[in-house]
Amino acid sequence: DSKRRGRNGWQTFTPELAEQQLHRLQLETHLRRAVINDEFHLVYQPQIDMRNGRVVAAEALIRWRNHSLGEIRPDKFIDHAETTGDIVGIGDWVLNEACRQMREWQDAGLNVPRVAVNVSYRQFLGEDLSSTVAAVLAEYGLPGHALELEFTERVLIEDAPDTLRTFAALRQLGVILTIDDFGEGYSALNYLRRLPIHGLKLSQLFVQGVPDNQSDVAVCQAVTGIARSLGLALVAEGVETEQHRDFLLQLGVHVGQGFLFAPGLTPDELRDRYPTLGMAGAG
Ligand code: C2E
Ligand code: MG
Ligand code: MG
Ligand code: MG
Repeated sequence: DSKRRGRNGWQTFTPELAEQQLHRLQLETHLRRAVINDEFHLVYQPQIDMRNGRVVAAEALIRWRNHSLGEIRPDKFIDHAETTGDIVGIGDWVLNEACRQMREWQDAGLNVPRVAVNVSYRQFLGEDLSSTVAAVLAEYGLPGHALELEFTERVLIEDAPDTLRTFAALRQLGVILTIDDFGEGYSALNYLRRLPIHGLKLSQLFVQGVPDNQSDVAVCQAVTGIARSLGLALVAEGVETEQHRDFLLQLGVHVGQGFLFAPGLTPDELRDRYPTLGMAGAG
């Protein structure tokens, strides 16, 4: 931005820049204490079998409410938290809270088949993820298949030495493993083939262009084809309209998530919105 640069191209001090840095500093300071101050909560966005409207899973999405900063969306703080390392504590909190909620649903007779939790790359690299997950499942008496973990494409791209071992250990626990936002980044199909994952989530970036944008249509078809030939489950994200849904159903994609069905819901809202979840055998 040329307005911010001096004649020689150096960035010069401007009030705007100072304000940005101050904001960032404030964000990081508050973020550091957010877990301990109990400022996070989770909302749950249902994943719907679009053929019959049933809930097949609920994705836990983090929400941060801070007394001086207000509501901060995850897009605004997850990256910071990755850089500072705070994501590790936050990630542990999310995993625990989602499983605690799942236990509560089960005890209340609410048949949410599983809860999906987003795992950041740093969390994935950190201390042994599979033992953390095993401990949390045991604490709440949940079977592995009650939990789904969504990883970013980074786990495919960066050839970390323990990637395969971690995935194998998680899979051994029965946990459902998914690549989130698939197709957004550069994906190494080679790793996709090697990793013992269950499914992909088709990025909303492409879903939202169908059926009009031809290149988005092509990407959706390609990802569907990849999932099908590798025997992977596929969930479409960002399903906002009936046109999106119909296009996906025609492609053979059965499970969708998006504002057409519901945004992230508090546990109370979820129960009110899907009363049949409380009925035996329903889901
Ligand atoms: P994501 O995991 O891909 O989650 C989907 C995001 O798309 C959510 O935004 C959701 O509210 C939004 N969304 C759902 N349906 C629609 C739709 O029909 N249209 C549009 N335009 N958007 C839709 P949210 O909650 O702001 O989360 C953003 C991202 O932040 C997530 O993307 C995920 O990468 C990250 N995130 C959220 N919670 C966590 C968490 O607990 N841990 C980690 N590591 N990352 C998280
Ligand atoms: Mg996700
Ligand atoms: Mg996603
Ligand atoms: Mg995303």
